[in-house]
Amino acid sequence: MASHAASPTSEEVAAHLRDLRRRHPDLVKVSRLGETREGRPLHAVTITDPEAPAREKQHVLITAGHHGNEESGRLVALAAMDWLVTGAAAAVRRRQKIVILPNMCPDLAERDQRLPTRGRPPMRDHGPGGPRTPEGKAFQRVARALQPEVYVDMHARGFSGCSYDMVLWSEPRSYLEDDYLLHRIAAEMGEAGERAGIPHVVHPLSWPGFMSESPDVSSANAFCYREFKSLSLLTETAESNEYSHPARLRARSGLARLKALLAWGNRRFPKLPYPGYPCYLMGMFQGGLVAVGRTAAERRRSRVELWRRRRHLKELYFGPHPTPPDELCIRMRYAGPELRVGVGVQTRVRGERRIAEARLDGRRLRPSRTNGYFTWQYEGHTYLVIALPRLKPGEREIEVRLGR
Ligand SMILES: [Zn+2]
Repeated sequence: MASHAASPTSEEVAAHLRDLRRRHPDLVKVSRLGETREGRPLHAVTITDPEAPAREKQHVLITAGHHGNEESGRLVALAAMDWLVTGAAAAVRRRQKIVILPNMCPDLAERDQRLPTRGRPPMRDHGPGGPRTPEGKAFQRVARALQPEVYVDMHARGFSGCSYDMVLWSEPRSYLEDDYLLHRIAAEMGEAGERAGIPHVVHPLSWPGFMSESPDVSSANAFCYREFKSLSLLTETAESNEYSHPARLRARSGLARLKALLAWGNRRFPKLPYPGYPCYLMGMFQGGLVAVGRTAAERRRSRVELWRRRRHLKELYFGPHPTPPDELCIRMRYAGPELRVGVGVQTRVRGERRIAEARLDGRRLRPSRTNGYFTWQYEGHTYLVIALPRLKPGEREIEVRLGR
């Protein structure tokens, strides 16, 4: 039997979902993903504005309760849903589709138990060979359909009592801006959680196996980064069955840090070209591949495809070296199958410059967001993206002459 301290229980979560859907049938969709081994339903809740165009939406995936005794994760998931249907969340609903799996392991929740006594823990069911647990399979189905820009796995520091919460991320691929961006996002989340009333600790996850592009790593966070290049985060709420901060405070602090995260999806990071979560650059702001496309959906396809084929990019050179003041040369060698999605190459130069001429393999490019080049300026420097509608295997050379 679950003790009263393990609230919300699976039944309380299910009742909350029914009530939310009844009160907001236009905004809330509850789907039944399947059943646990013990026959309890697994639910996903989707909240978005049905009037706003789906192709322009950012996708967010949130899970809670991967560890059954960590009820604060479920508590924060319910608080997030309650906020997402309010007027204050209208702008987020217009630009984002948020899918929440609020109770990943109802069988464990029922027993206030962290991990199953036999078999794989569902959170670690994403290594080679694919998932085996019903919970792991349900999670992957949702994640593959969504290809989320952001994934958050919400946990609780059981046994830690009235102590501190955490925002964690870890081990993205090196020579990408992901580590910088994740740290920055996590820091904002932690500050928001502190203002809401609970001290926070923010640092990279150094726990083995939590986030890496290696296919051997089995956590849900690793899966979303490896497959979709989602910004993958993990949060922890302080709790214990003996002492905890009041439930209202735990919910408020957990919600505050999620709101800080969701705000990123409704703005543009100024060193990148598009509004939405900054997860679509493969390289540095100074030079790298970037997803391109007319809509958020096209850019998602571009990002996931570029990421999946990353090992086939054999060379990406930004020069010449030493770089003259008025010209750039970018060389790229790609050895994979033809990419039938938009492919961008981003770079930047000092000062406010105009492009006098840009050529791809000798052919003159025109200003275009999808087939040519485009620029913007930020803090006095000029950012340039060369956008190609597709990429065939072989070598490409981009030459740029800069004007004043
Ligand atoms: Zn946990």
